[in-house]
Amino acid sequence: MQPFDHPVQVTQPLLPAPERYAEWLHEVWDSGRLTNRGALHDRLEETLREQLGVPYLSLLSSGTTALLVALRSLDLAGEVITTPFTFCATTHAIAWSGLSPVFCDVEPVTLNLDPERIEALITPRTSAILAVHAYGTPCDVRAIDAIARRHGLRVIYDAAAAFGAAVDGVPVGRFGDISAFSFHATKLFSTAEGGCLTHAAADLAEPVRSLRNFGIADTDHVARIGLNGKLSELHAAFGLAVLERLDGERELRRQIVATYRRELADLAGLSIVTAAGATSLQYFVIRIEARAFGLSRDELQRGLNRLNVFPRKYFHPLCSQADGYRQLPSAAPRHLPVATRAAEEVLCLPLYGALGSTGAARICEMIRGLRGKPDPR
Ligand SMILES: *Cc1c(COP(=O)(O)O)cnc(C)c1O
Repeated sequence: MQPFDHPVQVTQPLLPAPERYAEWLHEVWDSGRLTNRGALHDRLEETLREQLGVPYLSLLSSGTTALLVALRSLDLAGEVITTPFTFCATTHAIAWSGLSPVFCDVEPVTLNLDPERIEALITPRTSAILAVHAYGTPCDVRAIDAIARRHGLRVIYDAAAAFGAAVDGVPVGRFGDISAFSFHATKLFSTAEGGCLTHAAADLAEPVRSLRNFGIADTDHVARIGLNGKLSELHAAFGLAVLERLDGERELRRQIVATYRRELADLAGLSIVTAAGATSLQYFVIRIEARAFGLSRDELQRGLNRLNVFPRKYFHPLCSQADGYRQLPSAAPRHLPVATRAAEEVLCLPLYGALGSTGAARICEMIRGLRGKPDPR
């Protein structure tokens, strides 16, 4: 098998044409305004609000800041039930807010929080559920929202990877109390660094916008303990330029996903995690069951690395295994069997438009070729 002649990473940032970015930058130079709700900021905010189909949207400086502001805006205390199967920013946001994460296992198909296991973890100290649309596949939002209503809990969705995802045609950003999106360079839609919060309730708009700007109410009054979570005009300009390329990128990614699905169907020991349908085209995730596949996930990853392909094993290790959380009672692997096993088996394959269907087909050929061949090391 011929290795790729350049490293194929799991993703490649979607870059705007430089001259388009420059045109938007001219507007920044003309205005002389770099941040604090400039014209491009507000324009991007309104465009995204429409595109994501949500009543309220506020830009933030990152997905992590969005999570911090979300947790603060809901005035929470005590424990927050969450998933271990996510990027560490989810759990860190809970801990940085002075709240205690309580890990709940995921369900085996979507690898999202298992609604059937949530209620057993609710205590008098529980104030919220922070669920993650893992890989951009929506959670069982109706079940989670129903549990929260029953127990008087708030619901935050980490929708960092779920840009454009929907549940039965309803955009993900409308569920729960509030949802946080990331516009990091590795995400489908990016502002290099950035993010946003979306919500349906009007009464969250004021706290969110105040908290992202130090809690300043007006020149004479600081009303909340806020932070600097603002998105600059340079980032907003970048985002506006990226938006012009988004439909094309999505189409290319759809073709790649179709190729992966076709070429990887019916391989014993390999299953496809990424749900068909309303996901965000952010990741294409497979699972390797070592015995049936004849190779472990790690062996397959090393084999692909030798062929210049660099898939990633998100979300391994589980967040519950990070220093700072590992000692929590809910972090014990015996309480999280589904997530623990998934973390050993998942692999995110390269997914970005420039890879092309041809690139994806070649990776599938490599996977089929490596199958059953033990690692020489
Ligand atoms: C990317 C990501 C984040 C963090 O977003 P940043 O914009 O990098 O702060 C949080 N949670 C999940 C699930 C992510 O994928």
